[in-house]
Amino acid sequence: MTLSPTGRLTPVRSFLPIILHSMTQSSFDFDLFVIGGGSGGVRAARIAAQHGARVGIAEGFRYGGTCVIRGCVPKKLLVYASRFPQSFEESRGFGWNVPAATFDWEKLVAAKNAEITRLEGAYSANLDKAGVKRFAGHARFLGPNRLAIDTPEGRQEVTAKEVLIATGGEPVMPEDLPGVELAISSNEVFDLPVFPKRIAVVGGGYIGVEFAGIFHGLGAKVTQIHRGPRVLRGFDVQMADLIVETYRDKGIDMRMNTTLKRLDRQPDGSIRITLHDDSTLDVDQVLIATGRRPATRNLGLETVGLETGKAGEIRVDELSRTQVPGIYAVGDVTNQVSLTPVAIRQGHAFADTTYGKKPWVADLDFIPTAIFSTPELGTVGLNEEQAMERCAVVDVYRNSFRTLKATLSGTQERVHQKILVDASTDRVLGVQLLGPDSAEVIQVMATLLRMGVTKRDLDQTMPLHPSSAEELVTMRTVAQRHIRKPAQ
Ligand code: FAD
Repeated sequence: MTLSPTGRLTPVRSFLPIILHSMTQSSFDFDLFVIGGGSGGVRAARIAAQHGARVGIAEGFRYGGTCVIRGCVPKKLLVYASRFPQSFEESRGFGWNVPAATFDWEKLVAAKNAEITRLEGAYSANLDKAGVKRFAGHARFLGPNRLAIDTPEGRQEVTAKEVLIATGGEPVMPEDLPGVELAISSNEVFDLPVFPKRIAVVGGGYIGVEFAGIFHGLGAKVTQIHRGPRVLRGFDVQMADLIVETYRDKGIDMRMNTTLKRLDRQPDGSIRITLHDDSTLDVDQVLIATGRRPATRNLGLETVGLETGKAGEIRVDELSRTQVPGIYAVGDVTNQVSLTPVAIRQGHAFADTTYGKKPWVADLDFIPTAIFSTPELGTVGLNEEQAMERCAVVDVYRNSFRTLKATLSGTQERVHQKILVDASTDRVLGVQLLGPDSAEVIQVMATLLRMGVTKRDLDQTMPLHPSSAEELVTMRTVAQRHIRKPAQ
């Protein structure tokens, strides 16, 4: 067995029972009914249908799910939009004379919406093409193998031999915060009718950090409020701190160790935030991004005897099976790794295994992740803290430099790179990159880590000059060696 940075094992029990169970003749309306037309649900439905299963799917909002409609895709479009002002500024050092730029939020939202609608159509069309019967409406269990769907045409009932729950997650709002109804969540932020000149972003997770960067880049005065001492819990501490430092340098008001006491509408329409120390702050919008929870409410789970975990999640085994035979779950609703590619792989694996006689399990090791802040963070494998916990001797290779582009653009921003190596095996445990295009580079590093790349492999790789990525194969000196103290 190779090293698993997540420490997760995926023991594969026998696939045979699941295949035999699923492929016997069924007198139900559907062999499979999928609740939720997001990343995981759509993939599972389409692949199962292509394997010959009779599949139905219900979506209560818009096909495509969180990622396409109000997550990754629109967010990345806003990230692109937010980075242009810096490019305009930087272009001057290269001889461009850029007149003062103006920004049209309504135009951006309309363009973003057109793209989202196109993608939504593509998702629906692909389901139709595969022969999946689509329902528009909220679905819930009425009992084993029976579901109700509240469609615009009225309630419909269907029966299904097997059910896949792929309902994703939803933002959690602090209901005990006086005035919380004045705040928005990430669900609303993409379609604000008016661009907020002043915005408070509450929360230090990746969604909060990304939106603080987006609104700052688009020209808003941004205050980020976080109850903890540092943002991006679970990510490399040094990289998270560097993001905060850069945000402060750019003029984002970063307030750590602070919580909200109340929100009040002011006569001029603005929102007054009172913080726990009674200081106040007036803004045009408050975005609360303090967490998400699995979407398991109003699913009728009690009618089938399916109990959820502490966070409301549906607990599954490595084959996406719940404790109730014939009911499965994939994606964010299982609260494992809440990322689109994970939901898609889990949905695909479930469909291939259950309906295609092609058993496999989604591998959750070496998942590359990006924080689309500006600067962008890309990370794969272990961060420095995790490496120190898990390995006796860890060598840290660090690099920090201004890019070639910066020499003329004049930007003071630096690229930061970190490679963590198990000194006893020379194996690369993790890579952390902060700077332009980190997400693009880290995707490739993920493959290398998965293949067991060693520091020596990196050293022997010819650099590509001139690039920032070449520095990853030219770091020769150990910046720090962590030696774990023997247990007392
Ligand atoms: P979802 O995509 O959430 O789909 C679930 C669907 O089920 C929804 O469409 C919902 O309307 C529907 N539904 C729920 N209950 C019912 C019901 N009872 N009946 C019918 N339909 C129902 N991930 C990344 O990998 N990269 C990113 O950059 C990234 N950025 C993100 C940014 C934001 C702001 C957010 C909120 C999320 C982001 N994510 C990102 C996470 C990503 O969106 C999710 O991991 C992914 O969408 C999970 O897919 P899923 O299929 O589990 O659920």
